[in-house]
Amino acid sequence: MPRSFVAEARKRVGPKKQRIRPVIERLAVEHADAAIALKFAGPLELLVSVMLSAQTTDVNVNKVTQTLFLKYRRPEDYLAVPQEELERDIFATGFYRQKARSLRGTMQMLLDEFEGEVPQTLNELIRLPGVARKTANVVSSELGNPEGIVVDTHVRRLSQRLGFTKQEDPVKIERDLVRLVPRDDWPRFPHLMIWHGRRVCIARRPLCEDCVVNDLCPSSRV
Ligand code: SF4
Repeated sequence: MPRSFVAEARKRVGPKKQRIRPVIERLAVEHADAAIALKFAGPLELLVSVMLSAQTTDVNVNKVTQTLFLKYRRPEDYLAVPQEELERDIFATGFYRQKARSLRGTMQMLLDEFEGEVPQTLNELIRLPGVARKTANVVSSELGNPEGIVVDTHVRRLSQRLGFTKQEDPVKIERDLVRLVPRDDWPRFPHLMIWHGRRVCIARRPLCEDCVVNDLCPSSRV
């Protein structure tokens, strides 16, 4: 189990239902550039990028996909080469054997069941081999069809520190967040948490004195 930040939320700052909107609004101003960091053109590249991003950085994925996407343009292309060749082409993203297997399985299913197109609904996306709920959530959200809220390590930490959840498990955290966050904000909420988490609400040493929501945060150290 990763480190918990639930116990840090000790100050009384008012009900979360009243705090959620101002938190989102202020973070949206502060991080106006908050968006997915993966570089892609179209749904297939999005899906592949998100699948490759497991256990590595977006910067690393972007380096690999810069050349990968010149060679692999359609689902068929991932199946036209031997598995070992695809493994070499994605090697730098780590876990390359497993990722190559998942990519090939996914491409096969796209061709067999979805006419070579990336489906947009969560239920269809999670049927693809190697596509977990988090990956499916990112893809459906970026495709303009959000059905949930992406919970990664930053979203988990900030939601706990901000007192939006007392849960540890990502699925339960997501359940709390979809009840709390206005639906229109589902796609941008994770980006705001992620960028605020990288720049200000850092895991080891949050910069609370520089934080635009410190008066709304029960974990504030100022
Ligand atoms: S950086 Fe902001 S959000 Fe994070 S703990 Fe401090 S006040 Fe709360």
